[in-house]
Amino acid sequence: MRQKIIKSDSEWRNLLTPQQYHVTREKGTEPAFTGKYWDCHDPGVFLCVCCGLPLFDSTRKFDSGCGWPSFTAPQEASHVVESADLTHGMQRIEVLCSSCDAHLGHVFPDGPGPDGLRYCINSASLKLEKKQPV
Ligand SMILES: [Zn+2]
Repeated sequence: MRQKIIKSDSEWRNLLTPQQYHVTREKGTEPAFTGKYWDCHDPGVFLCVCCGLPLFDSTRKFDSGCGWPSFTAPQEASHVVESADLTHGMQRIEVLCSSCDAHLGHVFPDGPGPDGLRYCINSASLKLEKKQPV
């Protein structure tokens, strides 16, 4: 079992920007086409902005046109947790960081990959660790 990272509300507020806090700890959503990474094509690994766990790899990022960074799969299935989200009158699957329970975004069944999934993730919940040029 991965060790859970548990911090108090005020600790998270100190660590995160107001927007990062809103998205990850209050299950917020950044406005489409405003995030740092929806149009980012740099190779690297997207880490959880809260705890640094590697969540998504740029090789699985694709242009979905939806205005948020989109991935066909997480880097490691065990690094994310999916749970049913019935808020806003919709049936969606919420995606959370398995280490610190940060809200990341949602997963939809309309992706282009072999699994047919689209992980629609807020830029504000991610931090890109760029790959060094070889
Ligand atoms: Zn995390």
